[in-house]
Parts: sequence; structure tokens; C-alpha cells
Amino acid sequence: MIVAIDGPSGSGKSSVAREVARRCDLTYLDTGAMYRSVAHACLERGVDPADDAGTAEVARDLRIEFASCGDGQRVLAGGEDVTAQIRTPEVERAVSPVSANPAVREAMVAEQRRFGEAGDVIAEGRDVGTVVFPNADVKVFLSASPEARARRRAVQREGGDLARGVDAAVDAEAERAVLEDLVRRDAYDSSRAASPLRPADDAVRIDSSELSFDEVVQAVIALSPELSARAERGRR
Ligand code: C5P
Repeated sequence: MIVAIDGPSGSGKSSVAREVARRCDLTYLDTGAMYRSVAHACLERGVDPADDAGTAEVARDLRIEFASCGDGQRVLAGGEDVTAQIRTPEVERAVSPVSANPAVREAMVAEQRRFGEAGDVIAEGRDVGTVVFPNADVKVFLSASPEARARRRAVQREGGDLARGVDAAVDAEAERAVLEDLVRRDAYDSSRAASPLRPADDAVRIDSSELSFDEVVQAVIALSPELSARAERGRR
């Protein structure tokens, strides 16, 4: 089965998708990590993120792999472990123009579909339910207020994880900067011509602003009898 979870940054889709993957024995595919890996490789190779021909070449050439380790996942690009490097503010700034390039998207979508061929995948991103897997068995569009999303991201940067109830002290100025960056990225991702961020017509919308992490995970699993059965099997 294929489960598609889309939504803006900080909506909690990565943590939710990872947990549903764990409970329902699905393979987790982080499509954002792929665009981030291309942006990171462009910066490393001195390719301007706005140079469409250059970024397309990097995207076609870069071999991106995911390796499980413990209960986490490492991202390898061209054989190099870039798990931490793709989360820096520099990459965050470069990723929007890189991912707005249709040729970059074409290369990534082809890879993502190959990944899906193995079956039993939960993929998360911006266009998974609309473009990558339009026939997904379950489609979710996860959102939350910009303020809730900025708070989660800011706490995450300080080593906390609100999804797991682990808070961290956050500087108000830093939180405002995260909010501004989020709003800027949302606007860019939603207004670009190539695969803009939008819910698929048949996606179920879940607003996570007022829900606990576990409530969101349960809500996703409850959407499909097959997911519920898989979760039940996993509990045994
Ligand atoms: O989800 P994450 O924040 O890691 O994604 C980073 C960036 O990658 C997004 O801001 C967006 O520009 C791009 N992206 C995309 N399509 C996807 C996943 C991510 O354009 N399916």
C-alpha cells in the first residue's frame, strides 16, 4: 500500500509519517530530504540555486539513498552522509528555488516512484498525493497554524521535540526568525508553477494545531482499515 502525507513545513508530517511507518510496518520516504540533498550538493559544488540548468544536472547526477540506523534514518548523497548538513539554514534558503525547478522535480519524482514500486511505503512532502502517487491508498494533508509550526521547529533546533513532549528553551527572537522563514517558504512553495503545495482533491485534511502527536498518528491510522489492521498486527 502507499500512504501519502503532504503539508507545509513544521506541520509535524515527518514525525507523524515516521511513527505511522513504525506502527504499520511501512517504509518511510522523506521527499523533502531529497530536495534538501540536491540543494546541499549545489552549494558544495558552487552551483547557484537559481541556475536551472546547473541544478538540474546536479539532481540527475546525485545518487540519494536512505539507510536505516537504530530507530532513525541516515541520508546519503553521492555516498556521503549528509543527514545533519541538509538541515542547516543555508540549505533551507537554497532549497526553495532548487525545488521550484521542473527539471529537478522530474528527476526526484522518478526516483520517488521507483522507491514506491517496492510497495508498502509512506511518503511525505508537498506533492506526494497530487503528483508523485496520485493513486495512493491513503492521502492526508496535514496543516497547523504558522505559530504552532514555528514553535515546533524552533524547539526542535534547540534539541527538544514537542511531538514527544520534550520542550526546550527558545529565544523569542529566534522563534520569530523561524516563523518568518516558514511563512516565506510556504508562500514560495504554494505559489510556484511546478507542483505547488496544495491538498489533493481526495486528501483528508487534518489540522494538528490543537492535537497531540499521538492523536494525529491515531487519526491517520483510523483513516484506513488496512492501516488499522497493520497497526493491530504490529501490537501483537
Ligand atoms: O519537508 P522539508 O521541509 O524537509 O522540505 C524542504 C523543502 O523541499 C520544502 O520547503 C520544499 O521547497 C521542497 N519540497 C518539495 N516537494 C516535496 C518535498 C519538499 O518541493 N515533495
